[in-house]
Amino acid sequence: MKEYLTQAIVLRVSPRGEFDRFLDLYTKVLGRVGARVIGGRRILSKLSPHLQDLTLTNVRLVKKGGFTVTDALVQDRLLLLKKHPSDFVKAQDLIFLIRELVPKAAPDIRLWHEVVRALQTSHWNFRIFLKLLGYDPVGAACEVCGAKKVTAFYPSDQSFLCLKCSGKFPKNRLVLIG
Ligand SMILES: [Zn+2]
Repeated sequence: MKEYLTQAIVLRVSPRGEFDRFLDLYTKVLGRVGARVIGGRRILSKLSPHLQDLTLTNVRLVKKGGFTVTDALVQDRLLLLKKHPSDFVKAQDLIFLIRELVPKAAPDIRLWHEVVRALQTSHWNFRIFLKLLGYDPVGAACEVCGAKKVTAFYPSDQSFLCLKCSGKFPKNRLVLIG
């Protein structure tokens, strides 16, 4: 059994069984991990308020087989800071990008700081995120037509697209990179 203390961003919360929850976490120390919250669905769960979608939280994780959250203290409710709908959309795009592209258990301190900074300040630069993730938009061309000016990234195929071609792809699975 091993214990970790780390900051984490809650990417997604889902139910697990009758009483538990399962979290997709992006952590500073461990990178992306899945973790169970035992009893997290109970109304009186003391951890649940600290583990909502898009919160920056200090968590204690125990690894025994999989990860379990044994303690959590919210530090920043990132989503509540988003007063403009466009920032809300950008935050969701960033979470989508992380969920699609960041492998499990591969910590990356530069990406971590960039993600936290963006979520806290609402200063979005998707070209930097993509570069840190290994997909540098500089010099990239549209996967469909070869145009040199790319305006979107399609994580499912890990491809860049120009404005015209991106119109043929499902909007909710595209990340606009400006
Ligand atoms: Zn194109």
